[in-house]
Amino acid sequence: MKLKAFLFFIISINLFAQAPKKLSSNQIYHEIQKLNFLGSVLYVAAHPDDENTKLISYFSNEVKANSAYISLTRGDGGQNLIGPEMGELLGVIRTQELLKARSVDGGKQFFSRAYDFGFSKVPEETFEIWDKQQVLEDLVQCIRDFRPDVIINRFDHRTPGTTHGHHTASAILSLEAFEIVKNGPNPPRRLFYNTSPWAFPSQEAFDKADKSNHVTIDANVFYPILGKSNGEIAAFSRSQHKCQGFGAIGIRGSENEYLELIKGDLPNGKKDVFEGINTSWTRIPEGKAIGEVLERVEKNFNFQNPASHLKELTQAYVLIKDIQDDYWRSQKVEHIKKIILACSGLYLEAVSSTENTTKSGKFDMSFEAINRSKSNITLKEIRFFDKNISKNHVLPYNKALYFKEKDIVIPSNIEYSNPYWLKTERTKGMFVVENQKLRNLPQTENDFPVTFVLDIEGTTIDFTKNITYKFNSPENGETYRPFVVLPDVVVSFPNNVLVFGDDKPKEVLVKVKALQNNSKGTVTVQAAKGWTIAPAEIPFDIQRKGEESIVKFTLTPPSKPDNTTLSVVAQTNGKNYDQELIEIDYEHISKQTVLKKAQAKATRLDLKKSKQNIAYLMGATDEIPKGLEQIGYSIQLISVDDITAENLAQFETVMIGIRAYNTLPELKLKARVLNQYVENGGTVIMQYITTGYRGKPTDLSDFAPYMLKIGRERVTEEEAEVAFINPNHKVLSYPNKITQSDFNHWIQERGLYFAAQWSNKFEPVFSMHDTNESPKEGALLIAKHGKGHFVYTGISFFRQIPNGTDGAYRLLVNLIEL
Ligand SMILES: [Zn+2]
Repeated sequence: MKLKAFLFFIISINLFAQAPKKLSSNQIYHEIQKLNFLGSVLYVAAHPDDENTKLISYFSNEVKANSAYISLTRGDGGQNLIGPEMGELLGVIRTQELLKARSVDGGKQFFSRAYDFGFSKVPEETFEIWDKQQVLEDLVQCIRDFRPDVIINRFDHRTPGTTHGHHTASAILSLEAFEIVKNGPNPPRRLFYNTSPWAFPSQEAFDKADKSNHVTIDANVFYPILGKSNGEIAAFSRSQHKCQGFGAIGIRGSENEYLELIKGDLPNGKKDVFEGINTSWTRIPEGKAIGEVLERVEKNFNFQNPASHLKELTQAYVLIKDIQDDYWRSQKVEHIKKIILACSGLYLEAVSSTENTTKSGKFDMSFEAINRSKSNITLKEIRFFDKNISKNHVLPYNKALYFKEKDIVIPSNIEYSNPYWLKTERTKGMFVVENQKLRNLPQTENDFPVTFVLDIEGTTIDFTKNITYKFNSPENGETYRPFVVLPDVVVSFPNNVLVFGDDKPKEVLVKVKALQNNSKGTVTVQAAKGWTIAPAEIPFDIQRKGEESIVKFTLTPPSKPDNTTLSVVAQTNGKNYDQELIEIDYEHISKQTVLKKAQAKATRLDLKKSKQNIAYLMGATDEIPKGLEQIGYSIQLISVDDITAENLAQFETVMIGIRAYNTLPELKLKARVLNQYVENGGTVIMQYITTGYRGKPTDLSDFAPYMLKIGRERVTEEEAEVAFINPNHKVLSYPNKITQSDFNHWIQERGLYFAAQWSNKFEPVFSMHDTNESPKEGALLIAKHGKGHFVYTGISFFRQIPNGTDGAYRLLVNLIEL
């Protein structure tokens, strides 16, 4: 039963909250070809974007295999090019982006419980933070449930240190998992490593390398049925990784992929990874009869009238339902149902009158059922929650039937909608998912199932849809959103990091949002000892669902440096609500709602400052301007066009946001203006830029006042020791004395994309390094130029400032005040 539920989940992915997929005749034919292939392939790597979409698409669309990608992490630790979400929330976006990518290339998606905690250089470091045993368990479970015949690793298990530690770790775990499952039932036959010229110093070196145990595939085939080449599909799939800026251009024309055999036997022809594996219906005992029917449908497929195959398809459905093996039965049952639905032109939908409801709220639902074929179809019933409506309606040709149901209340056992892996607080390296059935799933599906029971040409088949919400958007037309269940009241701190530069009290704002009409109650805020919050409670009274009310408390910090975490409780109808609702809404993915305990961090700093006006040029979004405003700076967000001598004159310091140099190509043209500004006495603080994987460091010498080249060095251990190599530099003493203790409680890393080479006009300030590495001095470079200063820094202020890290504030203030 466990397995059945699992497969049911994955196959219905496309039905969740996206516009429903409606297949054309060509696509139905393509699905029938896939239905007639009994074999699967699993691709293994560590992050969203590691996967080779060309191969996933090739196996799915050319070979017609059941293809999947398991990304050990959800990519939580990366950077976000499209919005402010970081950490777990970024993982929520990347999960959706991968689902979108798979809906393009035809693969399925899995994730282990491993958390992407950020960069690690070697797999040993990765395994110190992940629970290696748990990740291995997940991978083993994934292989047992998905039953790949072939496993393909993106990364080489033999070359630790040459790539991200997570990458090598994924390959090592894949080998270990292969060894564990190989003596069990239905073991995978072969394990490959997907090598490429990228793994070699040069194309020539790769061309010369021994390929005697490689399978070579010309993966860039053209699919007349789909009107695209494999490379075009793969590029469109990859382009779904928008938060990483991974748009890709489609490639046409023959292109090889190389698979080096690691375990199992080498196919003789060295071309087909399934060689020697029976992938026809005769693979299973009941398959001969099923294959006879379905191969006939494939051979004689009627593109003008796919419904003409309904009798044969329902006949095959009945046979498939009798397959003994849970795995094949559930997989093929769901697949053929999808084909039957498409062939009959059936459209079934259950729509809620509201996007969200609460456990006590009421909502209405409407149902649509239409048969757009001449076949005999009866809607026997519609079941949802404990209800059963619409008894035995014949569905005539092309006539929609609508049903309505009013004042529905969600059953009490249904939990609030929230990504399942975020329901329990995670450890440093792992999500906590107690329910084993949920592990590896990209998300839960069909949280609110509605079952349409139909009689199609004499065969009873039920189809499950999820309750969804749709509306007409003036710009985009018909828009689907997930239907969700939320708490009656949600609370949040609009400013979730409060930084006190002195002991003057500050206002603490609390936003109370009612998701239910007539919400009345009180709000209280809790802080640690030494911090005074007033008043003790504030009443709220919100009339209408969706309205917000902002209440103001006053927080007085202690007189000495200290930290506290504030929490908030709204009490209404005798119940306490302490969760914040985060809505993640981008056009390219399904809207996501995340609930988490509302918290704010308050830090009392020992801080001196004197400057006022700072200009900030945003690159990829970061939260530094907000943080600086907290401690009393006046921040003006500027665009590249605003960089003129006249404009800059009003600012004492200009900060260039993370990766602005990468994301704003016009910025290069402003080098002269910025350097003139520095000469006149201003300070320019340039935060890190990214540089390519291969080749030379990025040369900023035309941008900075002196020679400066940026490499890829970083310090990922947030506790790495920091040596002061220039102890008399002003930045360490004015206006705040910086000491070792300022490098306590940093998060995730010290810094990234350090300078690699610099003119001796630049003075390095710190030296730092990860365990077993050589010291790096490029984290913070300061050049005096004219009357001012130019600073390049790879220090991860963009992570520390939003986190309220006290030492990072003090150091950044000193840079601003240079
Ligand atoms: Zn990666």
